[in-house]
Amino acid sequence: MSKEELSARWDGYLGKLKDRYYEILNSTEEPLNEVYNNMQYDNVIIHNITNGLKGQTVVQLSQKADDGWNKMQGEIYKNGFLFLIKEEGYKLAEFKKWLDIEFTRFSVKVFANAARKILENVKKHIDEKKMHRCTQCAAELPINIYSFMAVNIKCESCGAVNTYQPDDRVRALEYYVIEPLAEEYAIEEKIKGATDKSAMKEYYKKYYGYLMENVPEKKESYQRTMDERLNNPFFSM
Ligand SMILES: [Zn+2]
Repeated sequence: MSKEELSARWDGYLGKLKDRYYEILNSTEEPLNEVYNNMQYDNVIIHNITNGLKGQTVVQLSQKADDGWNKMQGEIYKNGFLFLIKEEGYKLAEFKKWLDIEFTRFSVKVFANAARKILENVKKHIDEKKMHRCTQCAAELPINIYSFMAVNIKCESCGAVNTYQPDDRVRALEYYVIEPLAEEYAIEEKIKGATDKSAMKEYYKKYYGYLMENVPEKKESYQRTMDERLNNPFFSM
């Protein structure tokens, strides 16, 4: 076999693995729509599904690529083209990187789709017009239903302090809805950030910026976490 034939064979093999990747994920489209439609207020099922799909794609196809490269190496030695080990070997790493990036994109999208569905479900079941009244004098209290922490509210009529506990489903929106949507919002920076420190910083700013905007009660705590990440000595290395 000539070196060109060997190279073409290896490219063809990796190309088939890419086709297989798309085949597997395209076939999930309809079942996933079914899953979104049957979801309620949490995304536990999405974790299970994406873990399973990662096994079928990233894990198994990486394994197949390794197997292919072992055979390829055998051919390379047999034919005496040792320089091809380096010239063709990098394609294995590139392929695995490609798998990781593509799957990250896919799973972030799935979690974000689920998030939109969960938000829709919660909104349907929360009565925004329901009055919240002071336990002492029954005056109306200015409650923000979409709050994520218990809050103490002083009644303007009688001065009594009322504690408002947000609905559990609303509280859980932070984890099941806002975080996945923040990931979706910052996905490109996250992907670039894997190999580029300044993009990683941009990712943190975008991700935490989104959380601060949408969970204002926790702004300070998110700000602290973000600052810790941004001031990580890793970035000044
Ligand atoms: Zn009152």
